[in-house]
Amino acid sequence: MEGNKKLQRAEFIKMSGGLAFLMLSSKWLFAENIQAADLVNTAQKRQEYTTSLLKKLVTDIGPKPSGSKAYAKAAKVVFQEMKRSLPDVNYDKYEFDNWDPISSSNLIVGGQHIEAIPQKRGVGTTADGVQGIIAKSGNGFVILDEQNATILAYFSVNQYGKAIAGSGSGNLSISVPVFGIGKQDIPLLERSVKNKQQAWIKSEYHPVYKAPGINVIGQIKGKSKKEILVIAHLDTIFNTPGANDNTSSVIVMLMLAHAASGRENKHTLTFIASDSEEYVYEGAYHYAEGRIADHTIKDIRHVINFDSLTYGPNLWISSKNQDVKDLIHKIHKDLNIDAKPIFDESDGYVMDSLPFKPSGAKALHANSRGYDEKTLPVYHRPDDTADKVPLDCVEISFLVFDEYIRRIDVQ
Ligand SMILES: [Zn+2]
Repeated sequence: MEGNKKLQRAEFIKMSGGLAFLMLSSKWLFAENIQAADLVNTAQKRQEYTTSLLKKLVTDIGPKPSGSKAYAKAAKVVFQEMKRSLPDVNYDKYEFDNWDPISSSNLIVGGQHIEAIPQKRGVGTTADGVQGIIAKSGNGFVILDEQNATILAYFSVNQYGKAIAGSGSGNLSISVPVFGIGKQDIPLLERSVKNKQQAWIKSEYHPVYKAPGINVIGQIKGKSKKEILVIAHLDTIFNTPGANDNTSSVIVMLMLAHAASGRENKHTLTFIASDSEEYVYEGAYHYAEGRIADHTIKDIRHVINFDSLTYGPNLWISSKNQDVKDLIHKIHKDLNIDAKPIFDESDGYVMDSLPFKPSGAKALHANSRGYDEKTLPVYHRPDDTADKVPLDCVEISFLVFDEYIRRIDVQ
C-alpha cells in the first residue's frame, strides 16, 4: 500500500500545475483516506495491524511513563499512525512537575524479603531507610516508630496479584513513603503483625523537575461542529510496558480512526492518545481546559473513554445515560457478538473523561472483564507484555465501537 501511495505521489509531481491543483481537491484527499480505511477493513488486517503496533509501542519501547523519552517516542509513533488517515493531527503539549522513584529495597520483615514497589510521585525514606514495628492500617499495613507510634511507611495491597506501585495513603499525611505489596504476602504480614516484628524498607526519588506532557490529537471534520470525542491514555506506570493498560486500547482507537476516515461523517471526530492518565489525568485536563478556553467544549456531544479494553471479551460500560447502554447492548445483539457486556451505574465521566464534564456530552467509560485469571494479575506489572493481549478482545472492541460511532453519528 505504501508503494502504491508513493507511485501516486510521483505521478502527481509530474503533472502540470492546473491538473495538480484539481487533484488537490477533496476528491484526491478522499481517495487517500479510502486507502487508509483499507488498512483495517478485514479481521485479518486488524489482527496484523494490532500485532505490528504492539511490537512498536510495547515490545520495542517498553515502559512509557509520562515525561520520559520512551513516552515521547511512543507519541511519535501514534502521531505517524494518525497521519495515515486523519487530515488533522497535532501534538498538544504542556509541562508538569515530575519525580519518580529511582531505587528501592524490598520490605524486610522478621528477616523475610517481601516485594514492595514505591509509589509514583511519592516521597522517599531517609537515606538509611525506615525501621519500626509492622502493623495493620485500614486495608493496608504500616511501619510504626517504636517510640512514638508515628507512621514511617505505608503499604497498599494489590487485590489482583503481586506487588504493583503503591497507591494512596488513606488519611495519612502525604509526606509518608508509600509502597505497594502483593496479595499473596498478606498471611505472612498478618503473622508478623501478631508477633510485632521489626520491619525495614528504603526508597529514593529523583528531585522534582519539569517534564514534557504530550497528548496526540487527531481530527476529522464532519459536516457539523457537533463532535464525538474518543480518548485512550498512552502513558504507563514506570515499571510496566502496559500492553493491556492501555496500549491495546490506543490501538483500537487508531483502527476506529482509520475506519472512520473512509466515511463521510456528520459529526466531527476527535481522537486523543492522552498523556499523564496515570498522573491524575493531567493530559486530558490540559486538552479539555484548552477547549473550555476557546469556547468549543460544548461542541462535544459524545465522550468515549477507553481504559483496558482487553481484560476479557465482556466490555464493562459505565455511563449515566441509559440510551448509551441500550445502544451498546443492541449492537452486541445485532452484530451477534459472543460476549456479555457489563453495565454499571457509575458516571461515564471518570478518569480521562472527567475533564470533559463541562461539555455536558453523553459520556461512556469502557473497561473489560472475562479473562480475569490471565489478564488482571499483569495489571501494572512488568509482565503486561504484548503476548498477554487477547486479540479477540481487540476485535470485539473494534467491532462494537466502530458500530457505536456510526450509529451515534447519524442521530
Ligand atoms: Zn489505564
